[in-house]
Amino acid sequence: MSQTLFEKIIAREISADIVYEDNLVLAFRDINPQAPTHVLVIPKKPIPRISEAEESDQEVLGHLLLKARLVAKELGLAKNGFRLVINNGYDGGESVPHLHCHILGGRALSWPPG
Ligand code: AMP
Repeated sequence: MSQTLFEKIIAREISADIVYEDNLVLAFRDINPQAPTHVLVIPKKPIPRISEAEESDQEVLGHLLLKARLVAKELGLAKNGFRLVINNGYDGGESVPHLHCHILGGRALSWPPG
């Protein structure tokens, strides 16, 4: 199967502004930021989307959320708050078929989303 865009970022075949990496996840700045701080946290395992995650992915999914929390804190978002978003499938607005958690912060975000 061909690699997803985000697998190519993990492999350093496509450059990205990486802000965190460990053995399970990678975090990098979104190329089209929707807030002053907009970072994507992705599992290195190519899970296409949250609806296709499996019970055996419990560790990586928990790790991903904890590292999203860490990255948000390190980028100075903890005091004023931030939003984590996972778009799933067509109606969810997903455009890259590799699970990713958006961290959005640095401005007040409206609700509900469009
Ligand atoms: P989604 O619409 O939830 O699938 O989010 C995909 C995100 O990936 C969008 O916010 C894009 O701006 C972002 N994106 C696409 N290509 C790149 C890239 N090469 N580097 C960083 N972010 C990207």
